[in-house]
Amino acid sequence: MFTFAIISIAAGILFLAYGLLIARKICTKTRHKGWKVLSGLIACFIVGYSAVLVSLIIENSITPVLFGLSIILLSGSVFVLMVASFSLKTISQLHVLAEEEKYNALHDSLTSLPNRKHCIETIQMLIEQNVPFQLMHLDVVNFKQVNDGMGHFCGDHLLMMIGQRIRSHIEKGDFVARIGGDEFVVILPKKSPEQATQIAKGINIDLNKPFVIDGFELTSGAVMGVSTYPSHGQSAEQLINAADIAMYWAKSSELEIAIFSCEMNQDARRKLKISRQIDEALENNRFQLFYQPIISCKANTVEGYEALMRWVDPEGVPVDPVEFIPVAEQSNKITSITAWILNQIALDLATFQDAGIQCPIHVNLSAKDLMSRNIENLLTKLACKHSTFVRNVVLELTETAAINRLRDPENKLRSLKDLGFQIALDDFGTGYSSLSLLRDLPVDQIKIDRSFVYQLQKNQRNRSIVENSIALAHGLGYSVVAEGVENQTVYNILRDNQCDFVQGYFFSPALPIDRAIEWTHNHQPNILTSVAYNQ
Ligand code: C2E
Ligand code: CA
Ligand code: CA
Repeated sequence: MFTFAIISIAAGILFLAYGLLIARKICTKTRHKGWKVLSGLIACFIVGYSAVLVSLIIENSITPVLFGLSIILLSGSVFVLMVASFSLKTISQLHVLAEEEKYNALHDSLTSLPNRKHCIETIQMLIEQNVPFQLMHLDVVNFKQVNDGMGHFCGDHLLMMIGQRIRSHIEKGDFVARIGGDEFVVILPKKSPEQATQIAKGINIDLNKPFVIDGFELTSGAVMGVSTYPSHGQSAEQLINAADIAMYWAKSSELEIAIFSCEMNQDARRKLKISRQIDEALENNRFQLFYQPIISCKANTVEGYEALMRWVDPEGVPVDPVEFIPVAEQSNKITSITAWILNQIALDLATFQDAGIQCPIHVNLSAKDLMSRNIENLLTKLACKHSTFVRNVVLELTETAAINRLRDPENKLRSLKDLGFQIALDDFGTGYSSLSLLRDLPVDQIKIDRSFVYQLQKNQRNRSIVENSIALAHGLGYSVVAEGVENQTVYNILRDNQCDFVQGYFFSPALPIDRAIEWTHNHQPNILTSVAYNQ
């Protein structure tokens, strides 16, 4: 009994010592005062246990009470050890979870690169330490097309591979983050703008090499804007904005890389703001379609409408389409806008029909729309869903320069024509509508640009161009719309020269649908169902 009691108390002391060790570990992990107090208590227990052990050895005898006490002391030490070790285990697990959560909060799950938050924290840290650096904002050029055309699986893969390729260009101490959909930021501490340009060029050469995804080979590329700390801003937001502005400037100047300069600021700031507001407008349904009547010269009846976008920004200021359409084209948002327009037109056609008006609606398509599978699919879907859609929609091709850049405009247009749509060549006489295009493209109608129609009565050259354009179009079997008719004299000249249709402020500006219906009813009080357009 004596020996057993001695062994029990000695074991208790060992357990307590181990428990104390664990409690100390927890103290360093949690820095919680309670664990310090607990460690103190365990140390006191060890002293108490040792005192009992020493007195037992000195006494060299044991009573049943002392034996019972030794058992209790042993159990107590086991309890302390168990509580301490379970606590350590739980605390360690919590630490691992917290670390994981912290990692996830600062990294992008797709590419495993640091995310926007991490990027901003890193920029702030460099600013606090006053370390000069270059900040590169990189936007993938064709990501939306890949995502829309080949699906999200391919899009995600492309982003992952782009992330890897960018990472392979940065050195130790540099930093790369994915801060949004297809946007990356590279931070290059202690490097010059020239070095940043060299790295940017290297990245782009790499991104231009083919990516193989799911058996498909695609190429990509990026447009990059570079800003410098401390010259271009004193906060993360200012520096990212400056790089963003440089990036937009590069895009609109058709460059791959641009370094921020103050001149870029004003114009680009407005464009950037518009680009962001376009997303907001699409989400919150802030766009509106107005309709401008197209009048037949022969019958003086409404034979169609051109759908034109109207938009009032969140501050209540109307934004001119001439300003926001090019921004939407540059930032690849035009296809989302056009998709919205086409869906809206499908609804508005029914409204016109309910009012006894059955006229085609002209819709402006940009070259980016023609390149997008999405728009083609949507047109096909709407054509199947609404029996009258194809007959009542005329596609106007805009964006003077870009149509020349379409790889295969003829086939693109032919597939739209095969669906049954009529096609009008917009802004005839400016840029793309050269004679060869007029000869090769399968169009039904030309719309003479309003710059030629303007002051037709006074300007003999304009008059000659308009008269000959009408004859040329008729010779090729196309009908003609003259845009921008602002007075009776111009209208008379056009009518006398066999122009088929006219459109302009002399008749009506673009109006909201209810007012367009009202205007049509006033113009043609006996309207029932209009004859099919262009027949
Ligand atoms: P556009 O396709 O040539 O459209 C005709 C423009 O001429 C419209 O300007 C219209 O309001 C204006 N207009 C009509 N009659 C007259 C007139 O008698 N005199 C004058 N001076 N102007 C007249 P808006 O609505 O400002 O649109 C400008 C351009 O923006 C359009 O030129 C088109 O290229 C583009 N746009 C407008 N809406 C859309 C759209 O929904 N999608 C696309 N892709 N582009 C659009
Ligand atoms: Ca047009
Ligand atoms: Ca036009």
